[in-house]
Amino acid sequence: MSVSVLVAAPLPRAFDYRVPDGMAGVDGGISPLASGTVVVVPLGRREVVGVVWGPGSDDVAPGRLKDIVAVLDLPRLTRSFRAFIDWVARYVMAPPGSVLRLAIGSPALMDPPRPITLYALPEESPSPDGEASDVGGVRLTAARRRVLTAAAGLPPLTASDLAAEAGVGAGVIKSLADHGLLQRLVRTPQSAVEGPPTDLPPGPELGPDQQACADALVEAVRRRPDPASADNAGAEDEAGFQPFVLDGVTGSGKTEVYFEAIAEAVRQGRQALVLLPEIALSTQWLERFRHRFGFDPRAWHSEVTSARRRETWRAAAAGTASVVVGARSALFLPLPKLGLIVVDEEHDGAFKQEDGVVYNARDMAVVRAKMVGCPVVLASATPSLETLGNARAGRYRHLVLPDRHGQAVLPHVETVDLRRDRPPRGRFIAPGVVDAIRETMAREEQAMIFLNRRGYAPLTLCSACGHRLECPNCTAWLVEHRLSGRLMCHHCGHSSRLPPKCESCGAEESFVPCGPGVERIAEEVADLFPDARSIIMASDVIHTAAQAADMIARVQSRDVDLVIGTQLVAKGHNFPLLSLVVVVDSDIGFEGGDFRAFERTYQLLSQVGGRSGRAETSGTVLLQTRAPEHPVIAALTSGDRDGFRDDLLEERRRHGLPPFTRMAAVIVSGPDAATADRVARDLGRTAPAGDPAVSVVGPAPAPLALLRGRHRRRLLMTADRRVPIQQVLNDWIGKVSVPASVKVTVDVDPYSFM
Ligand code: ADP
Ligand code: ZN
Repeated sequence: MSVSVLVAAPLPRAFDYRVPDGMAGVDGGISPLASGTVVVVPLGRREVVGVVWGPGSDDVAPGRLKDIVAVLDLPRLTRSFRAFIDWVARYVMAPPGSVLRLAIGSPALMDPPRPITLYALPEESPSPDGEASDVGGVRLTAARRRVLTAAAGLPPLTASDLAAEAGVGAGVIKSLADHGLLQRLVRTPQSAVEGPPTDLPPGPELGPDQQACADALVEAVRRRPDPASADNAGAEDEAGFQPFVLDGVTGSGKTEVYFEAIAEAVRQGRQALVLLPEIALSTQWLERFRHRFGFDPRAWHSEVTSARRRETWRAAAAGTASVVVGARSALFLPLPKLGLIVVDEEHDGAFKQEDGVVYNARDMAVVRAKMVGCPVVLASATPSLETLGNARAGRYRHLVLPDRHGQAVLPHVETVDLRRDRPPRGRFIAPGVVDAIRETMAREEQAMIFLNRRGYAPLTLCSACGHRLECPNCTAWLVEHRLSGRLMCHHCGHSSRLPPKCESCGAEESFVPCGPGVERIAEEVADLFPDARSIIMASDVIHTAAQAADMIARVQSRDVDLVIGTQLVAKGHNFPLLSLVVVVDSDIGFEGGDFRAFERTYQLLSQVGGRSGRAETSGTVLLQTRAPEHPVIAALTSGDRDGFRDDLLEERRRHGLPPFTRMAAVIVSGPDAATADRVARDLGRTAPAGDPAVSVVGPAPAPLALLRGRHRRRLLMTADRRVPIQQVLNDWIGKVSVPASVKVTVDVDPYSFM
């Protein structure tokens, strides 16, 4: 008896393995193993984790088949989930085994849970009555007494939890157990049975627009067939699929609205999946969730410890985790009772994975919802033009929240023309803006200064000869980070000290910083407002969720007057006392050949602006610019969001750009420039020609022509939406011979053009 097993490795297809006689599946069923069963199989000289993908193909002589080594005690992957993995692999042109690896992750994830030791009072415990200085012959210190008193009122706990409850060190717990005053219980953690909480606390009373949106979502969640019957049938059906765009200005209550849909999914015994762009920094979101639902969602992102990941994976796969919130990788968690997917800040570039399997979690979320047959909600204050295009075309249902909730009004946006209101030499904040910051602080309100550049200065050059300090591995300038005393490459992580003299002309102490980063703005602010309490919020000063939470709490409790931040501050935080936002350089995003540059700048700046005036304080946004008449700036100051997006969409249509066409980038890279060039030229020569529905430009050196020591060339294919681009790409790339040192990567629906 054989089955076909897909191994979590970059192999082109599944392979047949023999099921040893008598090998039982997870649910006790005897061979053949049911599809979806997680198994261990030999691969070369290793043993690897894989999933039974279907019946054996019988194209290998039975005698030559290798045996399945073991069946793992894990829930089977559902049919729709396996179909999803195959679909993604075909769409993004990755080996299915690589996509499976996103789902079943590292082998450690599959390890059985390790037993843990819990501590409790023994059944017949001599109670430490009154002032007695010993019990059962064991001397009682104050610390020991505290532990026994605490343990009396608590379920069995781990040593560290019990120690924390009693306010003692963990050693005290262990010595009490050694003396027999506490009992050790060894347990294997089960996927905690957390069944869906039945009575959820009610949400806030919604406004009429909010209610209408929530009703639409709740109804869609309800339409999904009953989980029990769907499971029995073994198949989900697409009838329950419905995509929504939840489109509302910052502060309009989008989160409250989709919380209603999650609540409905939970009530139905379904699982809800929420994708956030920056989950490790989303403490505020988690707090709001707990406040609304009375329990914690399962979090899934890189900062979660491996033991916790293992447990979360199992709870997800077993269907007991009712709400999972995560970064893009959470999209590949098995969720057999999936009843709702929410993608918050759907326009955010962080949903695009650029390494390994290149995919856009926002787009793949819609595909997953379709295959499962459940609603999907794409929420944003500035939906992407792709999403908007889908709404216009009637593919997505468009739900709009036009106003901020309650008394809060949208901030007033003004430009500051840097050509007139000039900052002094070597400074970056205009005099008029300095006054506005001063007035804000005088009113005891907070101000935020936004600049999307980490470090002190984006460029360092020699004042004697003009030599620029560049990364040895990348086509990029080195960025000075004065706080850490290093020059760093933001692309490869290369870091060095400032050289003592210029390597080009030999001049000493000749290096000067050019342009500002947030550290330089912080220096300027310290000089202008020596008494102000200011902090920098950027990814190189905030490393953990705890640090982020701490900084946000300090801002909220008014321990801080001025926040200087990069795009990290733009994402979803709520700062009620913040009434002024200053954008140091509104024009940064306009250069560069990326067709999404205007859209993205608009999204970023309106998101930053949305941080101000969220409660009773009305907000002001000051955009420092050298191009006040630029359409992006004009759209921000006039507040004509819809007109601006219509113009952008129209322009995309006229120029034959997505979402009206489909794109794929082909990136050739290798350690040797000549070889990379040869392959790129061959691709250019064999590019599909003659079909008016497909066009290819390039090859051309990528803007990052050198990245991590590899030379990069790009070609870009644009095709009519009806063209099956994967097939065209496969045929095309298959014609070119590629030496082992050269890599040809395909990026379907590219987001980065670097
Ligand atoms: P968005 O996600 O659109 O930015 P939020 O859901 O974060 O908006 O809402 C903004 C603020 O208004 C939050 O503090 C939220 O709790 C509050 N809020 C929104 N709707 C309501 C409501 N119906 N009742 C009470 N508070 C609300
Ligand atoms: Zn570099």
